[in-house]
Amino acid sequence: MVMTTSASVPTGSESAIGREGTVTDRLVEANAEYAAAFTDPGMDARPVQRVAVVACMDARLDLHAALGLHLGDCHTIRNAGGVVTDDVIRSLTISQRALGTRSIALIHHTGCGLESLTEEFRHELEMEVGQRPAWAVESFRDVDQDVRQSMKRVRTSPFLLHTGDVRGFVFDVRTGLLREVDPA
Ligand SMILES: [Zn+2]
Repeated sequence: MVMTTSASVPTGSESAIGREGTVTDRLVEANAEYAAAFTDPGMDARPVQRVAVVACMDARLDLHAALGLHLGDCHTIRNAGGVVTDDVIRSLTISQRALGTRSIALIHHTGCGLESLTEEFRHELEMEVGQRPAWAVESFRDVDQDVRQSMKRVRTSPFLLHTGDVRGFVFDVRTGLLREVDPA
């Protein structure tokens, strides 16, 4: 997996707009079809399964399908790596204290882009744009260890009400299987 801080990723109009419009135009069209078939499930905002799932944003991880989740079942909190940042703690805190979730599942995966980055990425960004980002890259070498660290960050957060059911997993993008990581 190649990541770059430079402008070498195609962003021009030729690559983004084809004969049938931009990808976002297609999303909007797909939504019109979705809405046409949609019926109001009459739910409130509290997740039915009382669970929050923190996962990597990886495109190969279809969380609902992989976990047998349905509309309204869970909160899904996703970012690069599925790492437990302050903002993830913010979302989990609201999830538990305002919206009644009780369980937390943390999901990393095989072949994550974060494994090929280092904190050097921040330095490269600073060299390019003249400003160092305030955030950590949160890159990692050992996915199991990073899941363990994520579990620890959740369990030791003073803001969360429920830390008795926190479990961590690695999703295999080749087999679709979850493997649980021993917290110890
Ligand atoms: Zn990933």
